[in-house]
Amino acid sequence: MKFQKGTRRKAIEYEKDLVKYWQENKTFEKSVEQRPKTDGYVFYDGPPFITGVPHHGTLLSSIIKDAVPRYWTMKGKRVERVWGWDCHGLPAEVYTERQLGIQDRRDIGTKISLEEYIKACRENMVQTGNAWEDTISRIGRWVDFKGAYKTMDKDYMESVWWAFKKLYDEGKIYEGEKVLLYCTRDATPLSKAEVAMDNSYQDVTDPSVYVKFKLKDSDAYLLAWTTTPWTLPANTATAVNDKETYAEVEVGGQKLILAEALITKVLTDEKHQPLEHKVLRTFKGSELVGKEYEPLFEHRGENAHKVWAADYVTLEDGTGLVHLAPAYGEEDYALAKEHNFPVVSNIDDNGFYTEGPWKGENVWDANKKIAKAMYAGLATLDAMQGSGEATEQTVRKVQSVSSEAADTAARQEAQQVGSSAGKQDEPWRGSVWKIEYIRHSYPHCHRCGTKLMYRAHPSWFMDIQGQREAMLAENRNINWFPEHIKNGRFAKTVQSAPDWNLSRDRFWATAMPVWKGKGKDGNELVKVVGSYAELKELSGVELEDYHRPWVDDVEFDLDGVHYKRIDKVMDSWFEAGSMPYAQFHYPFENVEKFEQNFPGDFIAEYVGQVRAWFYYLHALSVGLWGKNTFKNVVVTGTLAGNDGRKMSKSYGNYTDPNELMDKYSADALRFLLLSSPVLNGEDFSLVDKDVADVARKLSMVWNMYDFFTLYADVDGWEWNGKLDDPSAELTNPLDEWIVSRIHQVTAEVNEAMERYDLPNALKPILPFIDDASNWYVRRSRKRFWKSQNDQDKDDAYRTLHYVLVQLSLVLAPFTPFLAEELYRKLTGGESVHLCDWPAGGNVNEILVGNMAFVREAITQGLAQRASAGIKVRQPLQSVVVYDEQARLNDEYRAIIAEELNVKEVVVGSVEPGEVVQLNTEISEELRQEGMMRELVRFIQNARKEAGLQVDDRIQLLVESESDEISVAIDRFKDTIMAETLTTELGHVPEGAYTTHVKVEGLDVEIAVAKAD
Ligand SMILES: [Zn+2]
Repeated sequence: MKFQKGTRRKAIEYEKDLVKYWQENKTFEKSVEQRPKTDGYVFYDGPPFITGVPHHGTLLSSIIKDAVPRYWTMKGKRVERVWGWDCHGLPAEVYTERQLGIQDRRDIGTKISLEEYIKACRENMVQTGNAWEDTISRIGRWVDFKGAYKTMDKDYMESVWWAFKKLYDEGKIYEGEKVLLYCTRDATPLSKAEVAMDNSYQDVTDPSVYVKFKLKDSDAYLLAWTTTPWTLPANTATAVNDKETYAEVEVGGQKLILAEALITKVLTDEKHQPLEHKVLRTFKGSELVGKEYEPLFEHRGENAHKVWAADYVTLEDGTGLVHLAPAYGEEDYALAKEHNFPVVSNIDDNGFYTEGPWKGENVWDANKKIAKAMYAGLATLDAMQGSGEATEQTVRKVQSVSSEAADTAARQEAQQVGSSAGKQDEPWRGSVWKIEYIRHSYPHCHRCGTKLMYRAHPSWFMDIQGQREAMLAENRNINWFPEHIKNGRFAKTVQSAPDWNLSRDRFWATAMPVWKGKGKDGNELVKVVGSYAELKELSGVELEDYHRPWVDDVEFDLDGVHYKRIDKVMDSWFEAGSMPYAQFHYPFENVEKFEQNFPGDFIAEYVGQVRAWFYYLHALSVGLWGKNTFKNVVVTGTLAGNDGRKMSKSYGNYTDPNELMDKYSADALRFLLLSSPVLNGEDFSLVDKDVADVARKLSMVWNMYDFFTLYADVDGWEWNGKLDDPSAELTNPLDEWIVSRIHQVTAEVNEAMERYDLPNALKPILPFIDDASNWYVRRSRKRFWKSQNDQDKDDAYRTLHYVLVQLSLVLAPFTPFLAEELYRKLTGGESVHLCDWPAGGNVNEILVGNMAFVREAITQGLAQRASAGIKVRQPLQSVVVYDEQARLNDEYRAIIAEELNVKEVVVGSVEPGEVVQLNTEISEELRQEGMMRELVRFIQNARKEAGLQVDDRIQLLVESESDEISVAIDRFKDTIMAETLTTELGHVPEGAYTTHVKVEGLDVEIAVAKAD
């Protein structure tokens, strides 16, 4: 095969061209098909949400999901990659609600039928345009889009039913009531993992209130504290720490009970000044336990409105007394179950009060209102004036107690309620003694942004508690990269995970396959269905679509009991976590295929998925099979904008990925990200300049290609079609060295890739390109220039060709376009991606070490030149090299002498810490030689400017009024003529190309013309 100069193409040109080439030639399909079915490598893709748009984050994971499978394909594995779409759950519903203009969940089933709503959901779950496919192809990712599975597919949902039933039958799923984070807007509980995953916490200001509960057997009040005044109407108890000391204090004519240690902190006015008070007595908290107090609202029945002991009551903040509304607090609920006091729910699924003074109001609208309406300020004053106990001074002080709440509105509201304060039927009025406002981090719904509440909710759970140890044990079989996540974030997630709430009170998701009936004795009976066939057997019904509402209508009788489906749907994380088997419709189809390929080999996502998708995959797999489901996992950090902040359109802190790829190449973006700390799970700022920098470094490959083809074309050099390791036949140490280096790099990349350590896999590549370009090619230039086609020249061609082809193979997983273009141009082969990973070859370690030493000596020598302000073209007399290991032979000395432009290289001792010591003295003769070098450079430039070919012979005229220049020309006449291919010095024909230059500040005229 022969080569043609000028065949280099721009990245944007070949990248776009290769996307088409691969599609037309089915290169991806071939790369999979050519590997045996018996040697599979299984990659699980975390599907994006179907209506989403590709962004830098999705591209980042796509790049990894491409590079790793490409590598394993080259290693001989069959790596099928099928795209998937997440279609269910709240994002789909929020999207559809917005589109249909639904403001209130209660409208679904009333204003719009559920059937219409579900149809709209399904219609919306189509890919909008080709944005995904185009962008994913542009970044060079190979994946089968046509065969993409969707979580809303009938088959997919049936596998989800199967998994649910298997877990239920094994006693791993149960129905219960738990206090969960709950979104009132979407009327559904959310899992803690969902809330923890992204930025679901926001800083908000909430009222923090001190509320008085009058003890039944005393005239004293318990002063309790809460940051959720909206829960006060559901109060059924208070809690105290029975081991701490409490005090009864007289303040403003009232007796208040609170923790002794918190008196000075709590008894302050709005300016945080201490309030006058008197401690009447102190006692242990245990004395309060069991005492009854008067309810603020209606009496909640037996065992309600008592004081209980709870260890979790601390003296860090508040009063040491905690108000309990067990329906709306996790710890409250647990205590209620322990002591059997009432759990009162007074808010409906959509967040509206169902009773009391705020009936019909939204809980979040009512929150501050409740605090203010219950506020004591003037009420206390009234009470005190009535009793005549208060002095004028204390009245004034109490009046000012209200902190930030003392805004005008609050005062007015307090005044309005003040007149009726303390009324027998409305004891809540005036029960709030003080309001402060606190700024704290509070969970919000990541879908719709509404504040979340804790709420007791009947739900279905997967028992995580019971399999926690197994999950931790199976985690030991997983190779995490970066490694610290294994026993860090992931293990901690497993250790602290609550039982998994699987049910959602929504519409668009896999319906929970649970039917319930009432037995003759009134007992509830449950039938869980694991397949469509089973449902048909029970009901005789077969559906086109098993979504709500159609599946809701399927009822059946079994042993004389009538069964109806419960109206809940599955958590979409259960669906996402079912992906390994559901994508194959296992176990209804593909049994062998799934079982042979389980557990999967590899997954990759960003760090947020550690608590989410990775966790749920693992939970389901351990639940179903007692095994981990993936063997290797790469966890990325998060990409930030160029200012280190979150990427955001409004900050304008990032460039659109497509624009970035068009400007600098997809390969440069891939290479930068794959080698960046984001692959170590750290956050990384994506800066355009860094992409540009990588693009520039990668383009050095093309400079070498250009160089190679330019001379190969001139010499008509032909490649014999062999790609064997040429080491044994090479004699020039430069050739041997660069071949050793590419073999070394191949082994290093391979070793790191087997560990899934991508940053270290890419690490040796750019230094190698620098070695090849700035050392091998540069040092070998003269071998290509020389006119005779001898063995040494042939070896140089063969070596450079070999090294570039090997480089294309090593680069193939990471920069698939550059690798493909290079490989095809140098071999004429079909595709680098159909090749095997290079076997590597001979590495001469001694040679590599010696050359590294030589390069280090030269780098230091050049630095010494630079700091002495001497140009490289100025020859110097000598350099001393400290050669402890006797690495330098004559050849290496010659290289050092040439690179440092010195006459001689002396081995000896140098300054400590240095390798070389350059003699920077410049004699008259050296100075003239330096001028000659300058002149030669200008003559070479003039040749180029005159449009001459590299091998053209010339006529040359150099004129200067300076004697110094003339002397230098005379002295070095032969060198000048030889190096510039001059056949005649001192005469040029009329019209020769002429240029004016300055050499050491002296004027010189240079004229060149092509010799006949
Ligand atoms: Zn929400």
